[in-house]
Amino acid sequence: MSVIVRFAPSPTGKLHIGNVRTALINWLFARRQGGTFILRLDDTDRERSTDSNAEAIRTDLTWLGLTWDDTFRQSDRTSHYDAAKARLIASGRLYPCYETQDELDRRRKRQMARGLPPLYDRAALRLSDAERTELAAQGIKAHWRFRLANTEAHAPDTTVPTLVRWQDMVRGDQAIDMSSVSDPVLVRGDGSYLYTFTSVVDDIDTEITHIIRGEDHVTNAAVQAQIFEALGATVPAMAHFSLLIGREGEALSKRLGSLSVEGFRSDGLEAMAVNALAALIGTSDAVHPVATLAELAATFDITHLSRSPSRFDTTELAALNARLLHMLPYPAVAHRLEALGADGGEAEWLAVRGNLAILSDAVHWHAVTSGTIAPVIEDAAFSAKAAEMLPPEPWTAETWGAWTTAIKTATGAKGRALFHPLRLALTGRENGPELKVLLPLIGRARVLARLQGGGV
Ligand code: GLU
Repeated sequence: MSVIVRFAPSPTGKLHIGNVRTALINWLFARRQGGTFILRLDDTDRERSTDSNAEAIRTDLTWLGLTWDDTFRQSDRTSHYDAAKARLIASGRLYPCYETQDELDRRRKRQMARGLPPLYDRAALRLSDAERTELAAQGIKAHWRFRLANTEAHAPDTTVPTLVRWQDMVRGDQAIDMSSVSDPVLVRGDGSYLYTFTSVVDDIDTEITHIIRGEDHVTNAAVQAQIFEALGATVPAMAHFSLLIGREGEALSKRLGSLSVEGFRSDGLEAMAVNALAALIGTSDAVHPVATLAELAATFDITHLSRSPSRFDTTELAALNARLLHMLPYPAVAHRLEALGADGGEAEWLAVRGNLAILSDAVHWHAVTSGTIAPVIEDAAFSAKAAEMLPPEPWTAETWGAWTTAIKTATGAKGRALFHPLRLALTGRENGPELKVLLPLIGRARVLARLQGGGV
């Protein structure tokens, strides 16, 4: 049986690091098994779903390299949901309800005041045909609930809870007591469908083999398992991984703006830094830079996902981004350096990569070797002396040592007093790549002009 998984975001907002993790875990799982990865847009909430969010999701996934084998949106599949709804009604698993929200709230309050769990009491199941006709005649539109297979558990004297069990690939043996779950509404009064239902119909029709998602869906999983069975389908394998939390332990949803994929991209972060962190955080594998998705897929193991929540911290992402850049070979970045106007060839890349926090930092170092910078001259006499001692070209990695030894002998300067003014004059910065490597890349003409304070 070939693996088929799906990533099913709602286009009601932008992708954030938590969604990326869901998408990536599914993608890696599919790639690892030679399976299929489907992008499904869960746009049943017509008010909040927008085409521009759907487009942004596709843009973000493409930037991350998480390409899909197939894609569709739920709003195009209403006729399939209608057919499944008819089947559930025919088998008595979907029943019409007429309570208003106010009425349900009042009942819930009464139950809680009496110390009872606030569960739907299935009053609508006891309506006679005549009562239903009467309610419909009053113009009340029915919403539809799924009758969970937990009937006896709703009786107050029961001692045997109805459990839904499955072997979760991350959480292990799961048993959800359905006596604590209300019959879920699957169809709203206006006829629109809820995700709980449409997801199952789609998972059946697209022959999903594994449902892999966050643990906020564990209770849904139990309800959905019963819907699968009610529609005569086998429940796919399921994996529910723990969610990411912020540095202070807060839910990530509170700071989505700063954690959006769009934000990472505009901050100049590497897609593979985001991917590596998203795939490795919360696993038993140490977070480390990984250059390609293929490498990540080769080692990814869903069973390494931890059951406890993991902290996501943007400083960790920034640090991983830098570590990734420091190890990337020139061919991996050449075309992007070119696009930045910062391509100085392999030697320059190898010289500067260790000093980059983001790739566009290379722009400055390319100006240092091949363009114009503002040199900083602290001591004009010292600079003039250094210029005088400059050896003729050709320059090699040994030139720096020979030149600075000569300056030291001539001026008596040593240590920081020797090197710091040279660095400021040659690069305009306090810190940077090793000058011994940089010097031949800058070349004699530029070095000379900079020592003389010229803006080159
Ligand atoms: N649209 C749902 C969500 O974003 C999908 C959950 C699922 O994978 O079933 O939470």
